[in-house]
Amino acid sequence: MIRSSNEPIRIALVGMGKIAQDQHLPALAANPDFRLAATVSRHGGPTEALPFFADIDELIGSGIALDAVALCTPPQVRREVAAKAIANGWHVLLEKPPGATLAEVIALRDAAGSAGVSLFASWHSRYAAGVEDARAWLAQRRITGVKITWREDVRVWHPGQDWIWKPGGFGVFDPGINALSIATRILPRPFFVEDAELEFPSNCAAPIAARVAFRDMEGVPILMDLDFRQEGPQSWDIDVETDAGPLRLSKGGGELTLPDGALSPTEDSLHGEYPRLYARFAAIIHAGISDVDVSPLRHVADAFLCGRHIQTAPFIE
Ligand code: NAP
Repeated sequence: MIRSSNEPIRIALVGMGKIAQDQHLPALAANPDFRLAATVSRHGGPTEALPFFADIDELIGSGIALDAVALCTPPQVRREVAAKAIANGWHVLLEKPPGATLAEVIALRDAAGSAGVSLFASWHSRYAAGVEDARAWLAQRRITGVKITWREDVRVWHPGQDWIWKPGGFGVFDPGINALSIATRILPRPFFVEDAELEFPSNCAAPIAARVAFRDMEGVPILMDLDFRQEGPQSWDIDVETDAGPLRLSKGGGELTLPDGALSPTEDSLHGEYPRLYARFAAIIHAGISDVDVSPLRHVADAFLCGRHIQTAPFIE
């Protein structure tokens, strides 16, 4: 529980992999609303000065004074850790995707409500520089079509991440869900899966590529092309055709181009996203609410439910 809104929120980071090191540590260091109090890792702490624990049970058993945890583990192991943290009275930030299944995320949301703590199902891409301007611009236009192109080289961006190829690891939907977190924020109407084709390497339990056709409530087609085999230039683009010309969100939402060529302030990386994400986490903690939007996860689940599964060449890293 928070003692007073003037005191920093004492937080522990759980799962000290790529995203914890690259983004969570610097975002927390720069935010006076938080004080990093501990890390939880199977491999030791980032500095000897900071307490670290091997797992959530050790963290709880230590009796350390904490208000919150941020869970940066793979989705498959997040539910159990989150449930223990909530039961211990801590606010919880879930990295994206918030869980391996929809039901577990809803159960966590309800548990947080009963325990009187805040649960934040975070979607970092929604905090990219161009997203809110794109949403405001599109709210005034008639949309006729949407194309999402999210093609990246898995060997460059996810080296050694075996969990991504296992059940509940999402494969190419691990980055693809970022695109869906933006699309569900900027598009004015709900949309749903009509058709999907998922390519599974013969040695993997998660897809390496997917093509998903959505349609919105007024019949507008939304086509999504995801591929983990992209070499050379990488694409994280959303193109929206409207009655006022095309809008392009590129660089994962970091750059917005409008039909007159006007560019919003550009960000090339995730660096602006995580400070805004933690500002939101502090805000919901102080407001005593949770923020759990499962709509991007629901679209991924529907693509797995309805899509054709095609076997493709084995993936050898
Ligand atoms: P990662 O580099 O593989 O790190 C995950 C960490 O979780 C591991 O280093 C490990 O930390 C811990 N962990 C605990 N139990 C584990 C288990 N059973 N198997 C594997 N790791 C386990 O992955 P990541 O890229 O940081 O991604 C983690 C989450 O953040 C994912 O949900 C991903 O979608 C999300 N995310 C990633 C990025 C990115 O650019 N990489 C960007 C945004 C969001 P210890 O060794 O310290 O225990």
